[in-house]
Amino acid sequence: MQTDLNQQLLAKLASFFPAAKTVGSYVGGEYIVGTGAAVKLVDPATGREFLSYADAGAELVDKAAVAAVAGQRAWAALTAAQRGRVMFEIGRVVRNHIEPLAQLESLSAGKPIRDCRGEVTKVAEMFEYYAGWTDKLHGEVIPVPSGHLNYTRREPFGVLLLITPWNAPVFTCGWNVAPAIATGNAVLLKPSELTPLSSLAVASLAEQAGLPKGVINVLSGYGHTTGQAAIASPVVKKVVFVGSPATGSKIAAASAARGIPCVLELGGKSANIVFEDADLARACVGAQSAIFAAAGQSCVAGSRLLVQRSVYDRFVAMVADGARRLRTGEPLSPETEVGPIQNAKQYEHVLAMIQTGLREGAEVAEGSDGKPAGEGYFVRPTILKNVRNDMEVARTEIFGPVVVAIAFDTEEEAIAIANDSEFGLAGAVWTNNVARAHRVAAQVKAGTFWINTYKVINVASPFGGFDASGYGRSSGTDVLHEYTQVKSVWVETSASPAVAFGYAPGI
Ligand code: NAD
Repeated sequence: MQTDLNQQLLAKLASFFPAAKTVGSYVGGEYIVGTGAAVKLVDPATGREFLSYADAGAELVDKAAVAAVAGQRAWAALTAAQRGRVMFEIGRVVRNHIEPLAQLESLSAGKPIRDCRGEVTKVAEMFEYYAGWTDKLHGEVIPVPSGHLNYTRREPFGVLLLITPWNAPVFTCGWNVAPAIATGNAVLLKPSELTPLSSLAVASLAEQAGLPKGVINVLSGYGHTTGQAAIASPVVKKVVFVGSPATGSKIAAASAARGIPCVLELGGKSANIVFEDADLARACVGAQSAIFAAAGQSCVAGSRLLVQRSVYDRFVAMVADGARRLRTGEPLSPETEVGPIQNAKQYEHVLAMIQTGLREGAEVAEGSDGKPAGEGYFVRPTILKNVRNDMEVARTEIFGPVVVAIAFDTEEEAIAIANDSEFGLAGAVWTNNVARAHRVAAQVKAGTFWINTYKVINVASPFGGFDASGYGRSSGTDVLHEYTQVKSVWVETSASPAVAFGYAPGI
């Protein structure tokens, strides 16, 4: 089990936590190893186990809950401007650690190093962006009749629980933690048991930047143990979940049982629509990056490629040709564009879905036939053609480098196919007809929609799903409302207030 990867990873971890001998949790500023069941980590590039660590478990959750309450008090005691300066400093410190953080992420999540560098840079931007918001959160004065003043205050919930997935660990850490603490909350962060390391590292860098201990607590472990214990903790006032729809339902049920709200950021089956009048060369690059970047393990992946029939064969051949040229390989290699699937369960799901598609009548234009090939969890970038939208392969989230190509004739048909999905996370249209572009953008149900581009995301813009892709928004200014609660304050201002039993008169 002690492989090179194990040693490389522990050496990288030690650059953030000098005393760390294995994966632990970060609670109240202390690095603590759990005592629960073993979590086994497997190298996706080889399929070999390289490390095992103990689940955090309920005891550490309790400790983290106490630390978070104390951390939140210390954080709230600072002025808003002071909190902003600390957050900006976190951004600067993360920026100074792009390379070690990216390497830690690449080694532990099996993501191409070039993607990891980009994602860590985005994390720095997230702290910098929300640094500017800490002292700009304010309530309103409401015009009310009679001798009263009524104003509102935006107050933090206190402690938020953030639960994140394995596909973009450092990105989803920054994406959720930055607005959560900018609004004055402390967090319990429960990353995927498969990929906790970069979140631990960000927490340690945040403390180095001056964040009080206990504001960010990272619990490494399973969802059904550590995650459930955290949802049950009375200090948790809101749950923010990023992950699969199946787990999302459990999180919503557990939150509802406690009477607390949750935000769900779930999966997708996004339609990428290409009209015959589009710049096909650009659309082809966009279609590839939409599905093959991150080996398709992206919630917004353009996994349904809708192509107008007149250019269907030509465009599918172009995407197939591009897919063939993509460099698949070792995550740490600077050349690698497409890495492995992160874990065995997901790898088996991706292969099984390709086989399902072939049984349903789809054909492989390029890529995998659904059979394992070679060492590790690699799947060749795959395009399935002659797919109809009622096939399972067009309805289920595959979460791998597999795109299904569906033909359409008219604009109305393209919109109808795009909307014929339980999901509504993202979508795109490629056309040189500006009026059509906006008509389609207005009619496709999706939380994010792109015109003649794909996968552009920025922390300043709201992000979230329609329908089964979830609810709530996790970025932009919308999240500032999502992570705070509003209080209405009434003041008597008349010189001779009317004394009344029940509601005050005139209101
Ligand atoms: P998952 O649902 O299996 O796990 C997500 C997290 O939930 C992990 O931390 C896991 O440990 C935890 N968890 C699992 N069971 C739990 C339980 N019973 N109680 C509490 N926590 C529990 O998802 P995944 O496989 O890690 O991630 C892939 C999914 O995430 C895909 O569906 C993808 O589309 C989605 N995703 C969505 C977004 C978005 O913003 N919409 C972003 C990234 C990924």
